[in-house]
Formats: sequence, C-alpha cells, structure tokens
Amino acid sequence: MNKKRNKLILNLLPVFLGVLFAFFMIPVEDQARETDRDLSVTFVDVGHGDAILVSNRGEHLLIDAGEAPGTDRLMEVLEERGISRLDWLMITHEHSDHIGGVMQVMNKLDVDYILHSIEDPQIDMKRIGRRAIRNGTEVMQVHPGDAFPVGDALATVVGPYTYVGDENNSSVLLRVAYGDTSFLFMGDAEEEEERELLDAGYDISADVLKVGHHGGETSTSPELLEAVEPKYAVISCAEDEAEYPAQSVLDRLADYVEEVFITGRDGNITFLSDGEEVGVVVN
Ligand SMILES: [Zn+2]
Repeated sequence: MNKKRNKLILNLLPVFLGVLFAFFMIPVEDQARETDRDLSVTFVDVGHGDAILVSNRGEHLLIDAGEAPGTDRLMEVLEERGISRLDWLMITHEHSDHIGGVMQVMNKLDVDYILHSIEDPQIDMKRIGRRAIRNGTEVMQVHPGDAFPVGDALATVVGPYTYVGDENNSSVLLRVAYGDTSFLFMGDAEEEEERELLDAGYDISADVLKVGHHGGETSTSPELLEAVEPKYAVISCAEDEAEYPAQSVLDRLADYVEEVFITGRDGNITFLSDGEEVGVVVN
C-alpha cells in the first residue's frame, strides 16, 4: 500500500489544477482506440445499481460495486483489463445496490483505500471495515473539498454537505477533471442534496453527468442541469424497471444534453477523454 497518498488526499485542488494542463493533448480520432494518456470512465451494466471504473495511467478508482449478481459484470470488466489492484474504492452510500458488491471486489483485488462519507456505519460497512483491517486497506471518511489523483486526473469530493438520515441524500458526490474535460458523479442524490451542491458554489460543470438515483423522478432538477451543462448523461439502471428512469427525467435531459445512455439498454458504456474532448464507446 502506498502510504504517501495519505498526504495527497486532502485539499489538493489548487496544486493539481496547475499541473493538469501540462500534459500533451492527443485527440480522440478513433473513439475505440485508447491511448496510454486517455482517461477512461466505464459505467458497468450491473443491473439496478452503480459500478463505475475510472482509470488513467495504470491507476484506478472504482465508484461503488453494484450488488450480486450484477457485480459479476464488474468483475468481468476488471479481469478483461487485467486490473488486480484498485488505488481507490469510493462507497457513495450504504444502500445494497452500491455497497453490496464491495466484499466480492475485496475478495479478488487489492484495494489501497476505501473512501466514504458515512457517519454511522451499518452492518455492511462494519463488515467491510473489519475486512479492510485484515487486508491492509485503509478506510477514510471524505468531505467536500478533499481531492485525490487518479493518474493525471483529479477527483474532488463536492458533497455531501450534511449527513442526513436519508442515505440517498448523503451520497458522496464526485467531480473528476482531466485537462479541459470533466465528469460529475451524483450517486443517488435527490433534490435536497442537489440544492446543497448548488448552494456550495463549486464548479460542477461537466461533459458527462452520472444522473442521480438511477434516473428517479426526485433527482436531476432543471437547476442542476443548468449548472452542470452536460453534453452526455448516463443513467445506471436495469432494463425494464418500472420506476427508473422516470419519463419526466428523460424529458428534462432531452432539453439539456446531446445524448443519454442507459446501462440497462446500452450495456457497458465507456468514455475516453484526451483532456480536450470526450468520446464514447458503447458495448
Ligand atoms: Zn442506488
């Protein structure tokens, strides 16, 4: 485990903004051809749940791990890419469709750090904490303003501001910036947490928006979409779910984004960024 990262994680935003623009820009001419410098962000089709793999220069951040049996799809992606170690595993909140597959991941992969914002751990998180101690994985609570590198990309925690009884509205919100491109991951946040995020005044503009709460109707307000101005939106949910995504959310998204991807319909979705442009590969 790389202990020096401990020093890197807190409030490094000003330092990293300076270096983010220093690398060479290589255009995404062939969207299917990934270069070493590309940031890749894969939304894995885990059914109802989230599992998102962010990779650059051999470093990896996993945001949530879905739950069985969907986590098997995530394990396939990790195996196909020869990934046996994660630098960071972010647990956005404790609902089973996000945290349920974490033990399966920990059984197979070395994990340097588990990050979360949970104030009052329940059974699953306690179990993960015990396993982390045995595995030598460090578990850290994160707060808005904390930042950490994934290769040459920078991930910044932009929420939650308050930890409320409602798990969804206590989701860790993350913005990943790479050169001029960025991604915003909304966990299962609903309107309440969206309002806090907007009030906080962070730069939350993003080329790609991971839509909150599987496209549920109580998330993704017009105010949020106006602030983010995404080109693409991704909804992570199973095929043929009654509630997800809500038609009202699809209608709102249609007013703001060029294209909406849905894991349950499109399968795994990978975005590649060269720091200037974002391309998309659906498989
Ligand atoms: Zn969820």
